Amino acid sequence: MHLQHRFADLGAVFGTPTAPTPLRAPHTIHVNPSALALLGIDPREASRAEWAQLASGAQLFAGSAPFAMKYTGHQFGGYNPDLGDGRALLLGEIEHQGKRWDLHLKGAGKTPYSRFGDGRAVLRSTIREYLAGEALTALGIRSTRALCIVGSDEPVARETMETGAALIRVARTHIRFGHFEYLFYTRQLEAQKQLVQFVCAQFLPEVCDQPVAAQAEALLRFTVQRSAELAAGWQSVGFAHGVLNTDNMSIIGDTFDFGPYGFLDDYEPGFICNHSDHTGRYAFDAQPGVVLWNLNALAHAFSSLLDTETLKDCLGEYQPLLIAHYANLMRAKLGLAIHDENDQQLCADLLQLLEQGQADYSLFFRALSRYTGERPADALAKLVAPAQHQALSDWLHHYDQRLQKETRPAEARRHAMLGTNPKFILRNYLAQRVIEAAQAGDYQPLATFFTLLQSPFEEHPGFDDWAAAPAESGKHLPISCSS
Ligand code: AMP
Ligand code: MG
Ligand code: MG
Repeated sequence: MHLQHRFADLGAVFGTPTAPTPLRAPHTIHVNPSALALLGIDPREASRAEWAQLASGAQLFAGSAPFAMKYTGHQFGGYNPDLGDGRALLLGEIEHQGKRWDLHLKGAGKTPYSRFGDGRAVLRSTIREYLAGEALTALGIRSTRALCIVGSDEPVARETMETGAALIRVARTHIRFGHFEYLFYTRQLEAQKQLVQFVCAQFLPEVCDQPVAAQAEALLRFTVQRSAELAAGWQSVGFAHGVLNTDNMSIIGDTFDFGPYGFLDDYEPGFICNHSDHTGRYAFDAQPGVVLWNLNALAHAFSSLLDTETLKDCLGEYQPLLIAHYANLMRAKLGLAIHDENDQQLCADLLQLLEQGQADYSLFFRALSRYTGERPADALAKLVAPAQHQALSDWLHHYDQRLQKETRPAEARRHAMLGTNPKFILRNYLAQRVIEAAQAGDYQPLATFFTLLQSPFEEHPGFDDWAAAPAESGKHLPISCSS
C-alpha cells in the first residue's frame, strides 16, 4: 500500500507538514474489513500489532506525507478564523479501482492549529465516530468511515480523565466548506481557484477543461445537490448530527466529523442531542435549514468567482431537491412505489401522530413493514401512547386506502420495507453500553454492535436486545461536545 500526497503538494497555503505524536502503548481495538476492501487491502496484510503502529502514528504508510490541513469556518453562526486540523492529519491519498481515498489520522497529537487543545481524541468519541460511519453507510447515507481504531493507556483530560485513542478515517475527500471560506476571507484568491480545480479534477472531471468560473459554478451546484440529498437522508433515518458548523460540512456532501450526534429514539422533531447547543441551532428538525445556512456561507466564499445571480441560482436548487429527495425516501419507508399527490400529507399525518404518541421512530416503521391490514393493529398500537390510538386507527384507514392504489403485491411491498426500515439503529444508550464495556477492556460488545449496524435490515436472531428502544432513563443522554 503506497500513499500519494497530492493535497499536501498544493503547498504551504493549504496547511503544514506535521508529524504525528505517537500514542503511548497502543493496541488495536477493531479493524474494519469492509472499509479496507474499499482500498483493496486484505485485512491480513497487516497484523493487529502493525495496525496499532499505523493508527497510533508510530509508523507511517509508505509514501505518506502527514499534513495538517488549514481551514476556517462558521461555528454556531460565528466566523472562526483559527480552525484547521487540530488533532488529525491527512496521511495521504490512495487509489483503488479508479477511485481516490484520503486517509486521515484522527487523534494524532498537536498541530499548528491545535489552539488550546491537546491534539488527542478519547476512546469514547473514537468509538462513536467509528460506529456512526458504518451505521450511516449501511443505511445508504454518505459518510466518512474508518479503517480501524486503536486505544492506549495515555491519559487524556476531558470532564473526567479518559484514555487516548485514534482512528484512521477514510473519505473520498477531507475538503470542507471551511477550506473555501479560509481562502476567501484571507483573500488568497489564486489558491482558492487552485482548490476549485483540485476538487473538480477528482469529482467533476467533465468540467476540468472549462474556465475556472465555470468549474466553480459546477462545484457549487454539485455541493448544493449532494448536501440536499444528505439532509434528506438524515431526516429520513432520524439522524441528528449535532454540530453542523461549516467546518464540519464536506464539500462532497458526506456526513463528516462525528461529535455529539444522536439517532432519534422517540420521534421528537425538536430533539437536541448536543448538550452544549442551548438554543437548539442544531436540533433535529433544524438541520435542513442549517444546511442551507451553511451553503449560503459557502456561496459567499464563492462570490470571488461567481456573480450574485449565479450564486442565488445555485442555492435555489436546494429546497426543491431536498423536498423531492425526502419525499422519495419517506415514500419508500411507507412502502409506496407509485407517486400520489397526497403522499406528503399521509407522511406528515403519521409523523404528527408519532410525535404526539411518543412512538419510537425506527421501531414504528419496522413494525409497519409487517403490517397486513389486521385489526386491531396491536404491533403498532403498542408503540404509540394510548391517547393516540384513535389517531393511529384513523391513519391506518387512510393508509389502507392508499395501499389500494399500489400495483406491487403486498408481500413484495413488505419485503422492500424490511430492506428500508432498519431493525438496528445506533442509539445513544447502546453506544454508551459499548463504550462502557470498552473502557473496562471488553471490546466484544463493540464488535457485536458493529456487525449488526453493518447489516441493520437483517433479523440477526438472538440479538434483539440490540434492537430495543431505551428505557426512559436511556433517552436524552447528555452528549457533550468534548471529545
Ligand atoms: P470539532 O468541534 O471537532 O469540529 O473541532 C473544531 C476545531 O477544534 C477543529 O479545528 C479541531 O481540529 C479542533 N479540535 C477539537 N478537538 C481538539 C483537540 N483535542 N486538540 C486540538 N484541537 C482540537
Ligand atoms: Mg470538526
Ligand atoms: Mg415510546
